[in-house]
Amino acid sequence: MMLISTADIEARQSKARALCAEAEGLCSIAQTARWDALVIKAHAQEVRGARRLFGGSTADNPEIVSLIRALRLCTTCIGSKIGISRKRVDAELKDIGRALALMVAVTRCEACLKQTVVYALR
Ligand SMILES: [Zn+2]
Repeated sequence: MMLISTADIEARQSKARALCAEAEGLCSIAQTARWDALVIKAHAQEVRGARRLFGGSTADNPEIVSLIRALRLCTTCIGSKIGISRKRVDAELKDIGRALALMVAVTRCEACLKQTVVYALR
């Protein structure tokens, strides 16, 4: 039989809490790095002319078009990256859909990795 003292338990709990906090921090860093890489990829494709921007009638449109040309993204991720509300993203997507072949599917968002409704232009 193994006996564990209260102090030992407390020490372990404290260590577990510290590890959880560290893991959370790493996840957040990973998410940010992932986003940066995805956006750099999108911009690189644009620069090469592989995915040229066209259409779009508002200031936010080109940014959304540029993101969803390279990636399948949910409205939450589009909104958080560009800094506009989800409602606004929905309106912009409707607008983009009138000019371009907008693809809507339930699959994994390439940014947050959640299984959800995503948008893309392909
Ligand atoms: Zn997402």
